[in-house]
Amino acid sequence: MRFRDDRALRPNGWRRVVAIMVGMAALLAGVALSFASSAFEPVDPLTVIDDDFARHRDPALWTGLSVSRVMFSEGATTWRLWRIANVSRPDGPLWVVTHDNENATFSAALDAVRSWGGVAMVVDTGPVDGSYRARFNRDTTGSPPIDPNRNFRDSLPLYASHVLADLGPRPRLIVALHTNAPGFDAALAGCAKATGGGSGEISIRLCNARFQPSPSLSRRWPFDDDDNLALIPYLPDAGGQSAWCGDRLVKADFNVVFERVVKSDGSLSNYAAQHGLRYINFETRDLGSSPAGIAAAKARLVHMIDAMMERCGDVPEVDLRRLASR
Ligand SMILES: [Zn+2]
Repeated sequence: MRFRDDRALRPNGWRRVVAIMVGMAALLAGVALSFASSAFEPVDPLTVIDDDFARHRDPALWTGLSVSRVMFSEGATTWRLWRIANVSRPDGPLWVVTHDNENATFSAALDAVRSWGGVAMVVDTGPVDGSYRARFNRDTTGSPPIDPNRNFRDSLPLYASHVLADLGPRPRLIVALHTNAPGFDAALAGCAKATGGGSGEISIRLCNARFQPSPSLSRRWPFDDDDNLALIPYLPDAGGQSAWCGDRLVKADFNVVFERVVKSDGSLSNYAAQHGLRYINFETRDLGSSPAGIAAAKARLVHMIDAMMERCGDVPEVDLRRLASR
């Protein structure tokens, strides 16, 4: 399969190209700026003190992967990331985990970087990640804690440039992974079809000016759960049909939410849309941090990842050969 250059460059091709160039220039400037203040340190995944790694101590899981700690400061905030790279298969997507409390996402990212290659970048907020507290970076010198998925802003170039440091000159596909709370707050709904309720912000039943859902017709697993979906952002000028891989996933009977990005909320999805980067986000319902809860949520994420890669993995530097090591 070939990368669909023709589609990427029409009808808003020039605008997309300019956006990509501006985005990459900003990223590269950020990377250049940041080397002076960054620390990179190799990490042994079998001994490092951190709940995510403690749940994955089987040496076989780490064969062919290298793990490092990335640390840097921006303003008053100190950030810590884990970088997990597939050494034998460096090409592949950039897998991004921004919420340390969403523990199935670490497990799914580890599976994905083993299966499909590339690099996983994981935000770490501390060694203990069993509560909602772990969602936020509190190393802010007294300022309020920061949601790592509301910090992708051009005014904070070091953060985006570190998380996205491995995008490369022909930007890789970015795959973000999240778990979410059941249902959605009815106050967010803006259409007649929105039914249900709950505490979350993400659901295939939620529609409004920002989110346009395309629900699975068969509702076959993993799409039997309304919180299990692919979310793809797009800019209003380009239209929903420009959302990367959206048409193929609708045909494959995924739950797909198209996110119309008008003003960025600092999320990676909004940042990606505004910088012309190929991006998809997989969401599933959070089932807690027990081994069974993590395994069940991870299985749903991995199913969506594999199905997406089989249909849309025709991006530069990615071939469709799944690693035999899974
Ligand atoms: Zn999240």
